[in-house]
Amino acid sequence: MHCFQYKKNQLYCENVRIQKIADECGTPLYIYSYHTLIDHFNKIKNAFKKIKPIICFAAKANDNLAVLKSLIDQGAGCDIVSEGELRKAMKVNADPAKIVFASVGKTDQEIELALRTDILFFNVESLPELEQINRIAKSMKKRARAALRINPDVDAATHQRITTGTLKNKFGIDFSTARDILRQRDCFSFVQINGLHIHIGSQITTLDPYIFSIKKVLKFLEELRSENIDIEYFDLGGGFAINYKDSDAKTADEIAEAIVPLLQETGLKIILEPGRFIAGNAGVFVTKVLYLKDNGFKKFLIVDGGMNDLIRPTLYDAYHEIVPVQRTTAESVKVDVVGPICESGDYFAKDRILQGMKKNEFMAIMSAGAYGYVMSSNYNVRGRPAEVMVKGNKFEVIKERETFKDLIRGERVPSFLS
Ligand SMILES: *Cc1c(COP(=O)(O)O)cnc(C)c1O
Repeated sequence: MHCFQYKKNQLYCENVRIQKIADECGTPLYIYSYHTLIDHFNKIKNAFKKIKPIICFAAKANDNLAVLKSLIDQGAGCDIVSEGELRKAMKVNADPAKIVFASVGKTDQEIELALRTDILFFNVESLPELEQINRIAKSMKKRARAALRINPDVDAATHQRITTGTLKNKFGIDFSTARDILRQRDCFSFVQINGLHIHIGSQITTLDPYIFSIKKVLKFLEELRSENIDIEYFDLGGGFAINYKDSDAKTADEIAEAIVPLLQETGLKIILEPGRFIAGNAGVFVTKVLYLKDNGFKKFLIVDGGMNDLIRPTLYDAYHEIVPVQRTTAESVKVDVVGPICESGDYFAKDRILQGMKKNEFMAIMSAGAYGYVMSSNYNVRGRPAEVMVKGNKFEVIKERETFKDLIRGERVPSFLS
């Protein structure tokens, strides 16, 4: 579904003009389309309907309460990685029986809260963590549920900063350690270990890494069965790609067609943890041209958004399509689109051919709904941007722009300086 489209040269989000939202709410600004979010969730749900997976939205991709609520109300669960995400999910009434908790560094406090909340299971990333969960569950007189996060040692062929499933990465447990743990799982009296989990990376555009990984897991399950070790859940993780530039991402149907037979072969209950696939194309980042600069060598469009608002271009070498909010007949020019921050890495695009733009015109940086606002910071004492959700012809601010007061909250000059 295309919820960001031009009508009479004006870019719309659903039925609202983006220019109107930017004029009212100011820039820089994130805008999310409710219907795109839901549509992408349903694409996965329908593609995988044969195996009825629990679809746990990876909250770290976009943790705004409005986004979480939209998806939870459609039946989504949550894949969480921190106490903060757990509390946000619970605040919008997530079903604890659909919450899974990954993270290589769960603290005691996080484990306690998850146990009290009675989440579906912990995705355990090491033996010491498993021992710690067992200790805490014992002290709380509870029984935890856990899946072992397996590191299948498969290269997901994506950007190195978002590859997670090789033994060079800190994530998960190698097969041999996992086998040892499962052989003596009865020693962990307060943890029911009944699942396997993998998450091999993000923005994975080919299916082979999934197929290799699942086949490795199938072989492992066979070994476990021969030792009478039964497993109930297989959590495939996330990583499904979206189209940023070329249409190289697989559709939900293509992914399902390739892997559903393998998932069925496991005979287990399946969990999926898509993040980017659901939220990525449901959001844009809108920024305003402040200055045009030509140093004789290069042309720069200096905009009011910066790398502190959207770090993906500089952190992951990510390409984001950039389009004008109002199409004009101005001639195209080759420009670098850069922000105001004192870093050379503060750019959104380099050598990009764009419609010629003037001061105070808005542009939309597309596919910014995942790993956008959530990775923003206050670097250079800049308040984080506002976030807006659009549904049909309605829109509302779902996160206020940060003010100077927010920026100095909690800061104080010590008495010995006064
Ligand atoms: C980040 C993450 C996801 C989501 O990844 P996407 O590429 O956004 O789908 C899922 N599971 C785990 C454990 C993660 O860390």
